[in-house]
Amino acid sequence: MDSQTIPLEELQPAKKQTGYKKPELNKNSVRHIKELSLKNVKKALYDRHHPTLTTIDIEAHAEKVYKILNLKAKHDVLMLGHNYMEPLVFGLSGTEEQGDSLGLSMHAAKTESPYILFNGVPFMAETAKILNPSKTVLVSDKTAGCSLADNFGAEDVRKLKALYPGVPVMIYINSYADAKAESDICCTSANAVKIAQEMPGDEILFVPDIYFAENLEEELKGEKTVIYPGKGNQEKGSVCEVHEKFLLSDLFAIRQQFEIPKGHPKRTLYAHWECRLEVLQEADFYGSTSQIRKDIAKRVEENGLERAFIASECELTSNLSQEFPTVQFWTACSVRCSHMAKVTIDKVLNLLEALDSGADLSPYEVNLNSEVIERARRPIERMLEIT
Ligand code: SF4
Repeated sequence: MDSQTIPLEELQPAKKQTGYKKPELNKNSVRHIKELSLKNVKKALYDRHHPTLTTIDIEAHAEKVYKILNLKAKHDVLMLGHNYMEPLVFGLSGTEEQGDSLGLSMHAAKTESPYILFNGVPFMAETAKILNPSKTVLVSDKTAGCSLADNFGAEDVRKLKALYPGVPVMIYINSYADAKAESDICCTSANAVKIAQEMPGDEILFVPDIYFAENLEEELKGEKTVIYPGKGNQEKGSVCEVHEKFLLSDLFAIRQQFEIPKGHPKRTLYAHWECRLEVLQEADFYGSTSQIRKDIAKRVEENGLERAFIASECELTSNLSQEFPTVQFWTACSVRCSHMAKVTIDKVLNLLEALDSGADLSPYEVNLNSEVIERARRPIERMLEIT
């Protein structure tokens, strides 16, 4: 094993860029290394010029990254990286294997690899399992939860269905398989409006995210009635504990602190769709993670976007700041998803070493019974047909 460290003075300074340039293939990852050695892994990590990846991080973790990439190749593992992963974990996946939960699961659906390692939380891995049930789907920490998915299950869907018989049930993809199995159709934050518009009737029952539901209700005003937990009923819904943290007063403070006036042509305040309605209304642009990413690319290209704040999970900003090096990003890293943060480079390595040694993989494997897979697949497939 090559343990040579690349002297810092040999590293190339980051190239100054004046406009948006599509990142080179896999530049946001260490997967582009042609010849796998510790030296090349370190070089690739330093070459990423990641603003939140310091020399200390690289020196402490390069050997683990090297081992992970070796084991991944040896066992032909498809490694998927959710946008909210810390940069080191995110960079283990190729750019085509990075993204949001649905995009990654669709990628998982096509793979020939025997193992799918989903660097994200278990409900995401469940969707990959539903779409490709013959594969072994693994997560490095099965205890990683989600405030949205954990607090709303199949029984909660059944109760609402009993209250509103005949109203189509649309469930956010951020939910467990058993809740999806009770629903008519899935949606993401990128396609919810379109899916709701396509569903028959004047009403739609949306679960489980309360803020999401209120935002959807606003979008569909005068077109369709959105029913959701707590709206004219006593049922409980759930919220994303990360996006819930952003208050309207925070957005005013952010505008002032980072000098992002509303409507500024080169400075933009973004908010994720899971935030509160008043937060979305104050933002310059709101949408899903992929819509925010596309808007940044468009503004960089067309207006030379120079500064941005994203009211969302903090590592999303970390990862976007590498992709768009000409933009000055600000973020609030106290707004970190504690569930996503459970996925670490050490745990990914532990999992792959267990696989390599032939150990029992049940602590990592995501399994669903065939009936749940079958029933949960239908709402996902219906969504894919529409979108
Ligand atoms: S950010 Fe965390 S809590 Fe929020 S929806 Fe994603 S996994 Fe769940």
